Amino acid sequence: MAGEPQADCLFCKIVTGDVPATIVRETDTTVAFRDINPQAPTHVLVIPRAHYPDAAALAAAAPELAADVLREAGEVAVDEKLEAHGYRVVFNTGSGAGQTVFHAHAHVLGGRGLQWPPG
Ligand code: AMP
Ligand code: ZN
Repeated sequence: MAGEPQADCLFCKIVTGDVPATIVRETDTTVAFRDINPQAPTHVLVIPRAHYPDAAALAAAAPELAADVLREAGEVAVDEKLEAHGYRVVFNTGSGAGQTVFHAHAHVLGGRGLQWPPG
């Protein structure tokens, strides 16, 4: 069923604490933690506690939860002092775009100059 935990999902295991992570923020509906392979000085992932395979599925099934993820991405940027110089919020969607974990997540990237367009 949509939103149910998936036994084989790495980020569901981070939500339950079965896989450790450096958590920087938590709400009733979301968890934010540092990316294990950071691509910028600040690289935090924001995930819904509930499992949806990607951002589009999340937004379609649970738009308020999608909004929670976006709001938390903004709060991470405030906490990490990224606002002054700008930052990027990215949802890689599909393996062709680099998605490797199929539990919706926002990348919050900042702390260095960010090129546009991205690779
Ligand atoms: P994506 O490639 O968009 O699906 O993003 C998945 C992200 O999860 C990558 O940036 C990985 O570096 C990150 N990642 C994978 N395993 C872990 C982990 N155990 N803890 C934190 N981040 C992870
Ligand atoms: Zn999951």
